[in-house]
Amino acid sequence: MGCVNLDGYTRTQALGSVGSGWATLINRLYDAKPDHTKVVQVKEKFGGLRFYITDAPKEFHMLIRKAETESYSLCEICGAEGSLDDNHPWIKTWCDPCKEKEKSK
Ligand SMILES: [Zn+2]
Repeated sequence: MGCVNLDGYTRTQALGSVGSGWATLINRLYDAKPDHTKVVQVKEKFGGLRFYITDAPKEFHMLIRKAETESYSLCEICGAEGSLDDNHPWIKTWCDPCKEKEKSK
């Protein structure tokens, strides 16, 4: 666990931890986050959003699960409709135009 932050991730840190295409998911979670709940880590793993928290009501856990599921159909780079792509050295959820751009790099 490289960068666990004991004070919790701020919204800005969380937004900076994944591509801006997922900003809507992050903002939605922060808008609903109970005050006592701290965000331990936010990252992308195997093409999906991971949002780790300290204890929270079941409802908030369900919101996180929903956002994590949604991230698999949302391009992490631009927020357009995307799909999980593991046919390459990477495993990412990107839209087709972003995939083309990354391939040509
Ligand atoms: Zn895209």
